[in-house]
Amino acid sequence: EVKGRFGPLVGAIDQGTSSTRFMVFAARTSELITFHQIAFKSKLPREGWVEQDPKELLATVNECIAKTVENLKGLDISAADIVATGLTNQRETTVVWDSKTGEPLYNTIVWNDARTTVTVDQMIAKAPGHSADYLKPLCGLPISTYFSALKLRWLLDNVASVKKAVEEKRCLFGTVDSWLIWNLTGGTDGGLHITDVTNASRTMLMNIHTLQWDVSICKFFNIPMEILPEIRSSSEIYGYLRDGPLKGLPISGCLGDQQAALVGQLCFKQGQAKNTYGTGCFLLYNTGTNIVQSQHGLLTTVGYKFGPKSPAVYALEGSVAVAGASATWLRDNMGILQDVTDTETLASSVEDTADVYFVPAFSGLFAPYWRKDARGALCGLTHYTRKAHIVRAALESICYQTRDILEAMNKDSGIPLSLLQVDGGMTSNNLMMQLQADLVGIKVVRPSMAETTALGAAMAAGSAEGIGVWDLARENPETVGSDHFHPSVSEDGKSHCFQYICDHS
Ligand code: ADP
Repeated sequence: EVKGRFGPLVGAIDQGTSSTRFMVFAARTSELITFHQIAFKSKLPREGWVEQDPKELLATVNECIAKTVENLKGLDISAADIVATGLTNQRETTVVWDSKTGEPLYNTIVWNDARTTVTVDQMIAKAPGHSADYLKPLCGLPISTYFSALKLRWLLDNVASVKKAVEEKRCLFGTVDSWLIWNLTGGTDGGLHITDVTNASRTMLMNIHTLQWDVSICKFFNIPMEILPEIRSSSEIYGYLRDGPLKGLPISGCLGDQQAALVGQLCFKQGQAKNTYGTGCFLLYNTGTNIVQSQHGLLTTVGYKFGPKSPAVYALEGSVAVAGASATWLRDNMGILQDVTDTETLASSVEDTADVYFVPAFSGLFAPYWRKDARGALCGLTHYTRKAHIVRAALESICYQTRDILEAMNKDSGIPLSLLQVDGGMTSNNLMMQLQADLVGIKVVRPSMAETTALGAAMAAGSAEGIGVWDLARENPETVGSDHFHPSVSEDGKSHCFQYICDHS
């Protein structure tokens, strides 16, 4: 049936590490109609600890939905044109709550929290051969502070109320998707305790072959399986919004944020890849229905599974813990920026970093190094060094980290990427995009619509069986407007960024 002047609309809840958004897209054209976004800050109670208030996350989701519906009214568009919503979220971040009261049992332990170093050491000591990669053949991941299983083990060991709730059979565990869906579908009054395969693939507890919780991994971590959510596909009608201005709306898509960006960037073919620059930076490479085990420090993860009967599509992933977070650190902790966007003006005011190097290993180093003991470094300082050099070095550090990942990816796949599709909040920084092209020596392509994460979640929701308003086959990367940054190479063969070599198509 024909709805409104834009046809059927699909919503996307995007609950990220530094902000929450609700976005509304036209299913026929992928056009972004309107959205509302709320930024928030993580709590940093101790060195290495990063937490958020689960109730605050939920409140920002509800407020973003309410404000977006008001925006629609202002545009004279009926909220009834929205036929479904998808959800995408920061991954690995761990929530435990009380099924009887609905109250969180602790703050969320955020993905980049490094408090679990001792837990990691204990688990590695337990593993045959003391190998951090012991579980990799089953779950695709090394034992690291990054993944939910370690965070959950820490909660069970260190928080008495969590242990007690488990004993009294009223503890529920989930990543942020599970926490939100449980609350949005009714909470203590019948809320659904579910997750999707992509989010589950980041806990370390799911077997990536069977797509079910793995009994042997749960035994290894001594995790009680009854607290885990049910694993579903990324695209199906899970349930309905219980309250609010969109009450009754089907929730029919769920993907971890990086997997959603893979979908939103239309990387549906084996060999296609995208790199998202947000709080961290994540390069995902579609390997089709093949599970590829990396020999170079990358992760194997589920990319998406479009419906209960469709096969899972897998990806190789290079995860970098600190990207945009280095800009917020320069702003909030060092006080040398008013706004993160000042990084571009400042860094452009100098020709190079004057040999300053910045290593933002604030929570250790993730791929391809997996060094939880690494810490940040700033070196090469002289009398000449100015603020601008440090800021420029911070931008370059993100590009260098991406180059490390890209080199690992090229070695694993054997087929070097010929272009880098990028997205995420930080890609609005043109200087950084040009530095990136120069440092990797291939074209960097940024879509005009940078909200690919939310778009991917909307695509999953709109194409679900029973919704069927989004035709995935229609999508074609060639028809999506984009900016291209070409590598510039100076006469001595060294890459130098003198100007943007950017064109628009
Ligand atoms: P997330 O999904 O992780 O919440 P976003 O994709 O919204 O992240 O990107 C926000 C991050 O990008 C923040 O860490 C912010 O510091 C950084 N950022 C945004 N714009 C710029 C910019 N112009 N220059 C540098 N960093 C930026």
